[in-house]
Amino acid sequence: MSARELVVLGTASQAPTRHRNHNGYLLRWDAEGLLFDPGEGTQRQMLLAGVASSTITRICVTHFHGDHCLGLPGVLQRLSLDQVAHPVDVWYPAGGQEFFDRLRRCALYNDTVDVRPHPVDLQQGRQVKPPSVVDPGPEPFTLVAARLDHRTETLGWRLEEPDGRRMLPDRLAAAGVAGPDVGRLQREGRLVTADGREVTLDAVSEPRRGQVFAFVMDTRLCDAAFALAEGADLVVCESTFLERDADLAAAYGHLTAAQAARVAADAGARRLVLTHFSQRYPDDSDFSAEAGEIFPDVVVARDLIRVPVPPRTG
Ligand SMILES: [Zn+2]
Repeated sequence: MSARELVVLGTASQAPTRHRNHNGYLLRWDAEGLLFDPGEGTQRQMLLAGVASSTITRICVTHFHGDHCLGLPGVLQRLSLDQVAHPVDVWYPAGGQEFFDRLRRCALYNDTVDVRPHPVDLQQGRQVKPPSVVDPGPEPFTLVAARLDHRTETLGWRLEEPDGRRMLPDRLAAAGVAGPDVGRLQREGRLVTADGREVTLDAVSEPRRGQVFAFVMDTRLCDAAFALAEGADLVVCESTFLERDADLAAAYGHLTAAQAARVAADAGARRLVLTHFSQRYPDDSDFSAEAGEIFPDVVVARDLIRVPVPPRTG
């Protein structure tokens, strides 16, 4: 099982169908679990997907239309029921504070989990700001938000792993560095061995590019969508409509499959996951066909599939 993968919990926009639950996406990223847009039914979808509530360390909500947040109360209650001991940070657009407050306190239960709300206030305007860092981390990533173009205040998200260095076992062996000294060398950048030689980190490692995940939900085409997806290894992008209904997409503030593919292609992303489908389309192969003409690596999401973050290339 990959340590970095997307577990798709739900893929329907607006109304769930017999085969698609409301939205819900869990990004497993090493020891962290980031839950994006828990729509109604997310708690049960997690059960079906084999994801324990304790996996969740953070929750990101793009906006407060029901298909993106009605599952939040159930998930929060479940965290308490399961006596999850770690804090859970929740990020959401600041303009939706009243909705967050209601969802946070809408039912009676023994509320024990440490939920830490982080309203994110990004200014609206014609001028699109570059994505803003909302949580600099320490490790293992930076969480970034950018304002999208939907009918209500909506944020897209991006995880950036800092660039690092990959240790080279043959060079470590040749330099006679082993055991706890490897960790010390990584932390301190240089090391003096027992026989008095100095070994630098650069001499026994090579640069390793940080991985990037992007989450672009309800939006029209906008600069922020491209900025969020820039160079992403994995980008999840809504494609509510097909190009033949581009006028509806524009009117309701959504993307078509072709537009989502253009975002991924122009941004130089590596793998695109399409989701948030309108119930009007019975056959999702039309989405892969439309997007596939523009971008090569397209996954049309279905409930409960797992999509690995592509392996590192450098
Ligand atoms: Zn939606």
